[in-house]
Amino acid sequence: MTHYPHLLAPLDLGFTTLKNRVLMGSMHTGLEETRDWNRVAEFYAARARGGVALMVTGGMAPNAEGGVFPGAAGLFSDRDIANHKIVTDRVHDAGGKIAMQILHAGRYAYSKDCVAPSPVKSPISPFPPRALDEAGIEQQITDMVTAARRAREAGYDGVEVMGSEGYFLNQFLVTHTNKREDRWGGSYENRMRLPVEVVRRVREAVGPDFIVIYRLSMIDLIPDGSTWEEVVQLARAIEAAGATILNTGIGWHEARIPTIATSVPRRAFTWVTKKLMGEVGIPVITSNRINTPQVGEDVLADGCADMVSMARPFLADPDFVAKAQAGRADVIAPCIACNQACLDHTFSMKIASCLVNPKAAHETELVMTPSSKSVGIVGAGPAGLAAALAAAERGMSVTVFDREKEIGGQLNMAKQVPGKEEFWGLVDYYRAAVAEAGITLELGAEATPDDLAGFDEVIIATGVIPRDPQIDGQDMPHVLSYIDVLRGKAKVGQKVAIIGAGGIGFDVADYLVTDDSPTEDLAEWLEEWGVGDPEEVRGGLRPEGPQPDPAIRQVTLLQRKAQKLGKGLGKTTGWIHRAALKMKNVEMVGGVNYERIDGAGLHISFGEARENPTLIEADTIVLCAGQLPQRSLADALEAKGIKAHVIGGADVAAELDAKRAIDQGTRLVAGL
Ligand code: NAP
Ligand code: SF4
Repeated sequence: MTHYPHLLAPLDLGFTTLKNRVLMGSMHTGLEETRDWNRVAEFYAARARGGVALMVTGGMAPNAEGGVFPGAAGLFSDRDIANHKIVTDRVHDAGGKIAMQILHAGRYAYSKDCVAPSPVKSPISPFPPRALDEAGIEQQITDMVTAARRAREAGYDGVEVMGSEGYFLNQFLVTHTNKREDRWGGSYENRMRLPVEVVRRVREAVGPDFIVIYRLSMIDLIPDGSTWEEVVQLARAIEAAGATILNTGIGWHEARIPTIATSVPRRAFTWVTKKLMGEVGIPVITSNRINTPQVGEDVLADGCADMVSMARPFLADPDFVAKAQAGRADVIAPCIACNQACLDHTFSMKIASCLVNPKAAHETELVMTPSSKSVGIVGAGPAGLAAALAAAERGMSVTVFDREKEIGGQLNMAKQVPGKEEFWGLVDYYRAAVAEAGITLELGAEATPDDLAGFDEVIIATGVIPRDPQIDGQDMPHVLSYIDVLRGKAKVGQKVAIIGAGGIGFDVADYLVTDDSPTEDLAEWLEEWGVGDPEEVRGGLRPEGPQPDPAIRQVTLLQRKAQKLGKGLGKTTGWIHRAALKMKNVEMVGGVNYERIDGAGLHISFGEARENPTLIEADTIVLCAGQLPQRSLADALEAKGIKAHVIGGADVAAELDAKRAIDQGTRLVAGL
């Protein structure tokens, strides 16, 4: 039986054939900047061995001014060619194909030397760009063509010309950023001259038997973005200029609409790519929030594209395609679209990795060597499960204990939050992977020190307990813990005050104001964020703006710190959580003292002088005041002289998240 017949069908490009319809989309991992080319090669080779048909590298700068930041990787010299060849050789040996992305950032370059069609500063960069003159534009074309020629010399199977996401070429296309009056600006014919010229000259330079992908912004999601007619006109011109494949870009980086976060519905934008099907003769790739083989299969079966691009899913599991081919989608480690270890790292100038797979981009360093030890692990939350799977990978005999009847720990609470439905899949994956690895589960009973006495290694991953904020009146029946709320056990009133505005406070607020999750209903989600059909509204922005459903409760979210609420949330996703709650009129109050709770609600004051006493009227108050380590078993073991490794929240609860827990569990076991 053929699993996923559309997804796994080959794609004939004439001069070469792709073995399936899966592209690993470009991701900036930061690996190239380490100059450790063996490490770069291993990252890509692991994905090639896992069966993906074609990979695109992270963006390579064609010149210094086009780099996303000063020192961004590129292909500038003959020495660079030799380095890149280490990567392409390793990929080819692994049976894969790889294309190099040429990324000119234009005004998105984090540099005072950035260049653009016109001197229009980007809202996401502090640097005003310098407008290029005619000779300057010619130089940029030459540099991009040179990069393509060098890519061919370095053994790449192709290049992807980055024309979307609001980068340099995209900046020429729209009047929002292109105010020129010469032959590179004004009419659409003129504005699209640069991308078309780049593709034409790249094709000339690389010859006919080389893959040229053009990534085209199909819905800009910014004011004055392209119309659909312009998108089609550009697509046809790019095809005529010699592109082999068109890839989809969704939204500019400055767009205020989430496009890849976990709260974005799966395959939320494949309907946009579908509009282009039949308008061009070359294959079209769709992308964004496709993270399982079945979603990819459905997208292709529905005629939305000829091929699907997935990027982050290949951080989560390099063997995505091989497992799909084997009919074992249940053991594919799923990308939950959290951005926590990938994009958030990239934007913090750290090497990208993956929350569910800490080995991603650490292939040469985090290696699981064989071991015959036995290991007992207490706690089947993210830390314990990660440790268990790593131990099983090393060949250890593994037993996991948990007092709950279900594995997953706090993940089971996260999955209740609207927009975090991907956590269901993560727990399902752990269940399947644990069974596949032959791990023994002892669920539904507290583990005792005696249970753990016989193991070679003992790991305590017992998690956290909620912090007691010690507020006068907190024992009253209308005061709930976030656990009561997210487990759906407690009745919550109409007016709610939430104490604590960390990740959990935000999640609880979202849970309490939302009726049905828009992440589960694409039409509702598009309406909520104001996304329209680009055929009807320019750039896909509805003129009426976001139209969220009204909140089902009146919620006030509070913290003691005087800073903006949500400051500690994810770098690339915090704004989405804040915007979502603002749309639901959640009031956010910082700099408070909690004076007392009574039947009327929560009494607060402000500042060190405890001024401005205020009553937040509430019929329910929810405590989300952070956590403390649950160490009772660890302490009991220590008292009995049984040595144990303590990980996750049981180790350090402050700012605990699944990323740190999984990383710590995996690394501990790798070193045992
Ligand atoms: P947290 O992020 O540490 O936030 C705890 C909140 O409680 C803070 O707002 C803190 O603000 C407040 N607080 C601390 N001590 C208090 C006290 N004694 N009395 C009253 N308030 C107190 O913890 P969390 O919200 O429980 O989340 C736990 C972890 O899960 C987080 O670190 C987070 O990374 C992770 N998580 C992440 C997400 C995400 O979206 N990425 C979602 C859910 C959970 P003040 O001290 O200013 O009052
Ligand atoms: Fe996906 Fe999160 Fe891993 Fe990034 S860190 S690849 S978003 S699961």
